[in-house]
Amino acid sequence: MIPVVALVGRPNVGKSTLFNRLTRTRDALVADYPGLTRDRKYGRAHLSGYEFIVVDTGGIDGTEEGIEVHMAEQSMAAIEEADVVLFLTDARSGLTASDQAIAEHLRRREKTTFVVANKVDGIDADSACAEFWALGLGEVYQMAAAQGRGVTNMIEYALAPYAEALGLVRDGDEEGEDEEEKEYTEEDAEADQKRLQDLPIKLAIIGKPNVGKSTLTNRILGEERVVVYDEPGTTRDSIYIPMERDGREYILIDTAGVRRRSKVNETVEKFSVIKTLKAVEDSNVVLLIVDAREGIAEQDLGLLGFVLNSGRALVIAVNKWDGIDQDIKDRVKSELDRRLGFIDFARIHFISALHGTGVGHLFESVQEAYESATRRVSTSMLTRIMQMAQDDHQPPMVNGRRVKLKYAHAGGYNPPIVVVHGNQVKKLPDSYKRFMMNYYRRSLKVMGTPIQVRFQDGD
Ligand code: GDP
Ligand code: GDP
Repeated sequence: MIPVVALVGRPNVGKSTLFNRLTRTRDALVADYPGLTRDRKYGRAHLSGYEFIVVDTGGIDGTEEGIEVHMAEQSMAAIEEADVVLFLTDARSGLTASDQAIAEHLRRREKTTFVVANKVDGIDADSACAEFWALGLGEVYQMAAAQGRGVTNMIEYALAPYAEALGLVRDGDEEGEDEEEKEYTEEDAEADQKRLQDLPIKLAIIGKPNVGKSTLTNRILGEERVVVYDEPGTTRDSIYIPMERDGREYILIDTAGVRRRSKVNETVEKFSVIKTLKAVEDSNVVLLIVDAREGIAEQDLGLLGFVLNSGRALVIAVNKWDGIDQDIKDRVKSELDRRLGFIDFARIHFISALHGTGVGHLFESVQEAYESATRRVSTSMLTRIMQMAQDDHQPPMVNGRRVKLKYAHAGGYNPPIVVVHGNQVKKLPDSYKRFMMNYYRRSLKVMGTPIQVRFQDGD
């Protein structure tokens, strides 16, 4: 399971600066969703080969009053769910009473905590940081988040022991892409494709509270043969339910905490963003549910942003489509266009979990999305498509030389990644990169998943 790192500290110490640095995506093509540039608090981080979820808890200073108390409680809830806390302080302003109050909270919670003294750039770091030892939380790590100094060290230190305990495998060096590529043949692709047939599709059902996740899960399980109904794990984890549908195996990742039917009266586990994020990470396909009666809320967009960042395949279900008037339906549809129009790859379904309307079609899209996301394509096919794209639309000149595309191969699945080799390809303008991405999308009939095209210089 992917670890969760919470950034904690009073306002202005540099949490969002660090957050942005950690979550800056490796590939601008995928991250480029202008509809979602608003503030994010949850992100998926890649650093130094590690992958983790990072949560910016917002500012807490331990002396909240009124409305602040509620916000502080939310931060505390995030801390509760985190595996590791990075407690940021400001090396320039020195130790404050708020820092002390936060440290007190963290000590009581017995969370694995690392004290970070941020903004050490341009000051005498060692002497400025010495006083933070008084927080009684052990070593003080020096960082200048704005410059990126000390960030990698800190994360490596915080996550390394964790990586082992969690069986987390480093995902290799970022630069490791130029290892020698073997030709991936049609036969290889066919054999892998066959093997995939027998793997279950991991489907995460997510959405903010009350959109109908439990109702839908029960509806699906009521209709299908449940292979085994696993006992739930800890409260912060989703329940994994193996099931079969149309001859295909699934593992439903149930974030709503639907229990055995004999236990329906048990209190439903409360909504947890982190639980949802972990479910997304662990899935092949995400089913995002929104409520037709509420329209698209900030929280929906927040979850959506995370799904997009994760690269998972996505199907959107607008639920509670029963018993609403046509004018409301029209309004919802135009709102979807306006707010979700920028996601051009996901199918949108209008369903009623309560009555079961549209649920069957939902699974057709889930299957389509899964197949698009995992489909094996040979090197020769990907190269052929690249060639056709190049013939259709020549790459522009860069530095007075025509960019030449040489060959393409698969760089990963779920999401599909195509790596295009050639000379000076990294310098291609974004418009051409986007053209290539769309060309691949159309040629491979990719639906329900984002697709990435990466460019690599040389052969
Ligand atoms: P937050 O409220 O904890 O999220 O803090 P921000 O990330 O918004 O940072 C507060 C201010 O500190 C901003 O003006 C940042 O540019 C600045 N800042 C953040 N990190 C550093 C750093 O490493 N060095 C310096 N000198 N300033 C920083
Ligand atoms: P969850 O918090 O996302 O698991 O949402 P629930 O499944 O508990 O549903 C919240 C409320 O919405 C309940 O009162 C459900 O009966 C109701 N609900 C769920 N799906 C539908 C639907 O398709 N139509 C209508 N009218 N109500 C629904």
